[in-house]
Amino acid sequence: MALTHVLGVPRIGPNRELKFAQEAFWRGEIDEAALRAVASGIRQANWRRQHEAGLDFVSVGDFAFYDPMLNHVALLGCAPARFGFGEKISLPEYFQLARGNDACHAMEMTKWFDTNYHYLVPELKPDTPFSLGAEWLFDEVAEAQTAGFNPKPVLIGPLTFLHLAKEKGNDFNRLDLLDRLLPVYAQILARLKAQGVEWVQVDEPVLALDLPGNWRTAFERAYHHLNTAGVKLLLASYFGPLRENLLMALKLPVAGVHVDCVRGGDELAQVIDWLSATKILSAGVIDGRNIWKTDLAAVLGRFDGLHQRLGNRLWLAPSCSLAHVPVSLAAETALDPEISSWLAFADEKLDELATLKAVFNGGRQAVAAKLADNAAALASRRTSNRVHDAAVSVRLAALTATHDTRNSALAIRQTVQRARFNLPAFPTTTIGSFPQTPEIRSARARFKKGGLDEADYTAAMRREIAHAVAKQEALGLDVLVHGEAERNDMVEYFGEQLAGFAFSQNGWVQSYGSRCVKPPIIYGDVSRPGPMTVGWTTYAQSLTVRPMKGMLTGPVTILQWSFVRDDQPRSTTALQIALAIRDEVVDLEAAGIGIIQIDEPAYREGLPLRKADWPTYLDWASRAFRISASGVADATQIHTHMCYSEFNDILPAIAAMDADVITIETSRSDMELLRGFGDFNYPNEIGPGVYDIHSPRVPSADDMTRLLEKAAQVIPPRNLWVNPDCGLKTRGWAETEAALANMVTAARVLREAY
Ligand code: GLN
Ligand code: ZN
Repeated sequence: MALTHVLGVPRIGPNRELKFAQEAFWRGEIDEAALRAVASGIRQANWRRQHEAGLDFVSVGDFAFYDPMLNHVALLGCAPARFGFGEKISLPEYFQLARGNDACHAMEMTKWFDTNYHYLVPELKPDTPFSLGAEWLFDEVAEAQTAGFNPKPVLIGPLTFLHLAKEKGNDFNRLDLLDRLLPVYAQILARLKAQGVEWVQVDEPVLALDLPGNWRTAFERAYHHLNTAGVKLLLASYFGPLRENLLMALKLPVAGVHVDCVRGGDELAQVIDWLSATKILSAGVIDGRNIWKTDLAAVLGRFDGLHQRLGNRLWLAPSCSLAHVPVSLAAETALDPEISSWLAFADEKLDELATLKAVFNGGRQAVAAKLADNAAALASRRTSNRVHDAAVSVRLAALTATHDTRNSALAIRQTVQRARFNLPAFPTTTIGSFPQTPEIRSARARFKKGGLDEADYTAAMRREIAHAVAKQEALGLDVLVHGEAERNDMVEYFGEQLAGFAFSQNGWVQSYGSRCVKPPIIYGDVSRPGPMTVGWTTYAQSLTVRPMKGMLTGPVTILQWSFVRDDQPRSTTALQIALAIRDEVVDLEAAGIGIIQIDEPAYREGLPLRKADWPTYLDWASRAFRISASGVADATQIHTHMCYSEFNDILPAIAAMDADVITIETSRSDMELLRGFGDFNYPNEIGPGVYDIHSPRVPSADDMTRLLEKAAQVIPPRNLWVNPDCGLKTRGWAETEAALANMVTAARVLREAY
């Protein structure tokens, strides 16, 4: 007998019910009881689904009204003191932590490991108190039991909780709080035991990270403490192999361990060797991070022997929580049936678990048809000519070093480009998008639904472009953009025009709070059937004598924000996208566009979890960017743009992209992020953002002058550009114009001074 379970499921509901209820509650349209009713409906449906799929437990505690980390802040009674809340916070208070209130800014948010999910960062001070706080987890356990399910509560483990938190205050280490935190965890476990719970899953995904020695040794102390609560603990790691943490994790006094056999599959033999004879092993055999069908025959082959040995000590599960994939394929009526036959969203992954369980438990006959369907779908995907395009492989195989290097070195390009564009010192530009007004959104939506024909749509977008160009000329900007009115999203826009991409209608995944994203699905070899932006850009250029900057999304960002093929390395897919973008760059140049920006906001996000894996990634990521950018003459100026991120530890790899100009987000760090570029002697030109586009506040010319003066102390003034932090699509025109006018003034002040 093998058991099956999941580490968690999507909490958004099949039609984003949670989002709509949250937002209605925030607008005051529904009361807390109505919001809670929606939440309960989602949980009940999720449990029913898990029960129907024959899972041995239902997961409880994977639901959150906003974010599971924030739930733990509530559960552990450690809301930031600056909010002045009590130990047991209410739901409205919980939302204030996430979204801020009149007196307090919201808690910070950051990416959850290498996913596109964002969690709220706990704020810890040396004296942060911990206590048994919100009772929601216990209520949900009772709710599941009342409904007749066998709950397995899910907790974020104490070390992961502390590790992902942020220290507020100097001279202390948040690990020092562990001894005060553990008794509260023990209390929680004791409460769960008293409720009749047998197993508690304790997530410690930090085990897949490079952990300092003191964090590694703390695990032993922590789990000896938690083990005394008397409930069975399933220690869950995921998102990668455990490497040097493996032996330590396997020796911890817990009743079972979960390992990610998709990303950490190479370690399975070691895990089995070291697993003590009494522990259960939960094998994460179904990819919780991607949307492809599992090769069931391969899993059965690989785990059959182990199942014989372990019997019901073997549990099967997805690699991680299914919250990172969409809910169900059932709604995808518009997807091509062949492509859809290759996919498994969360619901379908539960079916896969059911099939695996049936076979292991002697019911192969009953699921023979399912196994055959699965094998047929996999065979079709392996051989389909929708996936494989010989022309793309030929092109990839023919790549040489000449494809990923510009014709001349930076200094030569710089001379040629300066002569060509004759820009003033401290040239001004923007990052690409201008305000997406309700009129733009409605025109795009009507065009998509067929309510607006192509000619009328083109005319409407051209009017927007003309408007943006006229505004920029009037403001006196030096390098203009067309404004991106035609783009709903910087990845979707390109994906829709590239071969090898498919789009779901309802494939939403939570990004944070009520925000969801619908990532494109890259299913096949990528190529560019025809120009994607040339028409809009040349039209914009026809309206002005100033340089019009072409605007593209880079290969790494397109890769990072999509569901990616699992039948070839990510790097191969990145190179294919790079070649498609290169085609567009070359076409823009041929159409007379002299400056082309290739955005890579997700460049840093792509970094692997382990430092040892960084060089390989940075090598192919920078190469992919260079391939996209290197098809042009020296006189064509390539820009790139990256949003707020820490660059200091990857500066060589950023320099290796060899963009003529990079624009980055720096205003919120008061130019501190720029210091590294200066210390590194970053050779290329750089536009440190001088105003925060996330806020409607209009910075004064003095504010921006001060930032530029700071920048000019670390970067040679000749290499400095003047621009906002990021695109302006979320802003209104009035504040945009006022801020850009001040920005142009600031640039003029600097020109006088230097
Ligand atoms: N060109 C894009 C814009 O201006 C860049 C967006 C981003 O960096 N995320 O909107
Ligand atoms: Zn940006």
